Amino acid sequence: SSPLIQLKDIHKTFLASKTLFGENKYVHALNGVSLEIQSGETLSIVGESGCGKSTMGRILNKLLNPDSGEVWFENNNITNYTPVQMRPIRKKMQMVFQDPYGCLNPRMKIKDIVGEPLLVHTNMSKKERYKTVIELLETVGLNERHAQGYAHEFSGGQRQRIGIARALSVNPRLIIADEPVSALDVSIQAQVINIFKRLQKEFNLTYLFISHDLSVVEVISDRIGVMYLGYLVEITTKEKLYKNPMHPYTQALLSAVPIADPTHRRERIILKGDIPSPIDMPKGCPFSTRCMYAKDECFQTIPKLLEVEPGHKVACHLKSS
Ligand code: SF4
Ligand code: MG
Repeated sequence: SSPLIQLKDIHKTFLASKTLFGENKYVHALNGVSLEIQSGETLSIVGESGCGKSTMGRILNKLLNPDSGEVWFENNNITNYTPVQMRPIRKKMQMVFQDPYGCLNPRMKIKDIVGEPLLVHTNMSKKERYKTVIELLETVGLNERHAQGYAHEFSGGQRQRIGIARALSVNPRLIIADEPVSALDVSIQAQVINIFKRLQKEFNLTYLFISHDLSVVEVISDRIGVMYLGYLVEITTKEKLYKNPMHPYTQALLSAVPIADPTHRRERIILKGDIPSPIDMPKGCPFSTRCMYAKDECFQTIPKLLEVEPGHKVACHLKSS
């Protein structure tokens, strides 16, 4: 199977400020990220805020252009596509955001919110559109009664279902879900994750699932990538990542995830210090300022992301020598 989407060596900076001396300062949001997502899989990208995961999501569907590197979709290099060329492709990549209330217009009825992509991307009549909207609402466990309401009348979990129905409306191949359950109560999170899982099978969807929380993505992921300061530091299958995390940062993140099996107790690893500013990047390994294994080389040379066992890539000098 060929990948649905590929990122090749993506770099992205943002102009942060000018110093007193008129020198430009840049936020290094992505520093050479390469990955691919296979059709039908769920790839989760996990990391603290500021690690570049949302920027990556926005580059994937070309809401942002990279400084360098390439974006491929269905075996086409779409890096330099014009907005007109992007139109049919954008339809195939829909977004679901963290706070559906924030992005649902308070003056619009639910039927119009869910039906909006149909209005933009199809020639459906008003009647066809309405019928499709009701079917979509039923797909996510809502019904015709909800179609006449306004977003503020619904709970967080219901609003996220509405956001999902809207994303589904134009038959996308890929859904990019950026922290889709972070604003919800833990009890509701599982319900919404289960809806994502069910819909994946029903509609043959591919997911990029962005989260700061490794415990949230466990159920849904096929593979997981861990990001730190704009670098992909580890990527592998969910099973391998949970059983044998190799990057010291992944080990620390995982040590905070509660596990059900009491025979598999993990020691909690508390990271010292804060995540450095993406404006003043460390010289060598991005994790060197917080890593308990850091050696001289780590402060000099940036480790490359290398395959250390089949299907398991890590960027760490401890693993590459
Ligand atoms: Fe730690 Fe060095 Fe590995 Fe970076 S390269 S994670 S500093 S051991
Ligand atoms: Mg974010």
